[in-house]
Amino acid sequence: MPLLAAERLRAAGLRPAIVDVDVHHGNGTQGIFYERDDVLTASIHADPDRFYPFFWGHAQERGEGRGLGCNLNLPLARGTDDEGFLKALGTALERVSMHGADVLVVALGLDASVDDPFQGLAVTQDGFARIGAALAGHGLPVLFVQEGGYLSDSLGINLTRVLDGYQTTV
Ligand SMILES: [Zn+2]
Repeated sequence: MPLLAAERLRAAGLRPAIVDVDVHHGNGTQGIFYERDDVLTASIHADPDRFYPFFWGHAQERGEGRGLGCNLNLPLARGTDDEGFLKALGTALERVSMHGADVLVVALGLDASVDDPFQGLAVTQDGFARIGAALAGHGLPVLFVQEGGYLSDSLGINLTRVLDGYQTTV
């Protein structure tokens, strides 16, 4: 779980940020860190107006109290492709830099795939490689926490592509 990883990193004196690339909004993670400013949380996901979890994940949810501004939601229209996803990832990584994070926890769901049965977003296999490359290119150490992704023939390939993209860039 990304939140356990983040807590362990905090306990070790680091300043982690969580970037969630799963097609579903990271509502559990958002809830836990919503009033905290020590862990930035960013989630890229299919717009919850028409997608699970429906009640959370909107852009105006920015954190509360001390945590105001430390939660970033980047909802994308259903069917958004590689370009749109990577643009949002760039926005998330910029915010990670602004926050002064020194380690990145990536909630690596693979269900933003164009082949995923839920059909939320449309990231291709090349897109997953580019996600890995963008994470590596950002420069912080990355801890991948693998999450969901529903049965499709490309699930394993997409995981391999993210890690390949990461490895060839780092
Ligand atoms: Zn998911």
